Amino acid sequence: MRSKHVPERTCVVCRQKQPKRDLLRIVRTPGGEVTLDPTGRANGRGGYVCADGRHIDDRMLGPKLQHALQTTITQQQLDTLKTALAGSVALSAGVAVTDEDSRKPAGKVS
Ligand SMILES: [Zn+2]
Repeated sequence: MRSKHVPERTCVVCRQKQPKRDLLRIVRTPGGEVTLDPTGRANGRGGYVCADGRHIDDRMLGPKLQHALQTTITQQQLDTLKTALAGSVALSAGVAVTDEDSRKPAGKVS
């Protein structure tokens, strides 16, 4: 049997090639929003990051994404994105996110 072709993409933060399912797609929509793309097929310019959440607290996440998506990402957009990433990471790891764990201080810039 032939081995199945696994589509690979490069993480914009660590530049490592990974099977597509081990990455999360982030897309800049034609409307200028920067959002997590769970389907991987949303319109717009996309970039991939590791799906295990290793970059969520990486201070390079914002700059690398801005470069990959060729747009400016506000702190608020980045925070929203991180929350979405964290939720997605928890889901793919089979961990239930409780209300307490997902609650984050809103609007606080570290
Ligand atoms: Zn990575």
